[in-house]
Amino acid sequence: MSESPPAKRQRTDASLTRSKIWYKDGSVVLQAENTQFRVHWGVLSENSAFFAGLEELPQPSDQPTVDGCPLVELSDDAVVDVEYLLKALYIPIFLLQKVLPFAVVAALIRLGRKYDFRDLLDTAVERLMFENPTTLEGYDALLTADDGYRTTRILDQPGILYDMLTLARENNIQSALPCAYYRIIYQYHQREFFEGIDLEDGTRASLAPVDQIRCVLGREAILKVQSQSGYTFGCIYSGTEDDCTDPTKCTRRRVRILRRYGETLPLFALELVSGATSFCPSCDHRYKESWTTGRKKVWEELPKFFDLLPWDQLTNDL
Ligand SMILES: [Zn+2]
Repeated sequence: MSESPPAKRQRTDASLTRSKIWYKDGSVVLQAENTQFRVHWGVLSENSAFFAGLEELPQPSDQPTVDGCPLVELSDDAVVDVEYLLKALYIPIFLLQKVLPFAVVAALIRLGRKYDFRDLLDTAVERLMFENPTTLEGYDALLTADDGYRTTRILDQPGILYDMLTLARENNIQSALPCAYYRIIYQYHQREFFEGIDLEDGTRASLAPVDQIRCVLGREAILKVQSQSGYTFGCIYSGTEDDCTDPTKCTRRRVRILRRYGETLPLFALELVSGATSFCPSCDHRYKESWTTGRKKVWEELPKFFDLLPWDQLTNDL
């Protein structure tokens, strides 16, 4: 007696929701949590090695289906992440926007790595790296006229520095880390490393313990070296040179600066100095040159302050 093939299970769970991303001619249904998306195998496979492989697998006879399409249940909790990923795949202008919300970049990096959407992953990592560059030139290009810093390709919002750091570390985007740490220790007080930052929606952006420790130790290490010879602030501690044309004025100026900051020298390791310094022209020139050299030195050593490998060994393990 021959057995009839098992009937395919049709998923009609009432608790399920259909996303707006529901193409009537779609050939596969994705499900994240209780939300379903009807899309096309061809589009997924073209962009993802994972889905290309999945499409090739023989479909089990009892594979659940929805409207005749095979159902692929994703283990991801984040429905929003899946929505952003599919928008990026289906709406060409979506990724062409100059500024993208952090949530989109994070979704493309998380799901891009997980399901091997290589191009989407690369474009999201590129944005993250733009905001957290590996070169001093890249860093300087981001400073605004008032030497402040605003994100320009990822939407600037409270807590964005914490979010970018966490995203980079959790996804092994190591080369973004030195700059990400520096921005945080420059912008925030030590207390905020531990307490987090209040956000508009009543929640808090917070740092993981490993990042809190790196921020504290990195800040201490940079504060210590920035006044040493060869670093940015070191030049202020050097005496008046023979080429000084007004030793009285320049010495007074140096003493005034040192008195002003005393023991509570702020973080100056990478800041730009421009405009008149009120030193004599020779000292002004020497100090600015020394400052420029000091900034390069700090940048070269930046990973070390945060207990990271040197720049040339920091890889993005995607
Ligand atoms: Zn002078």
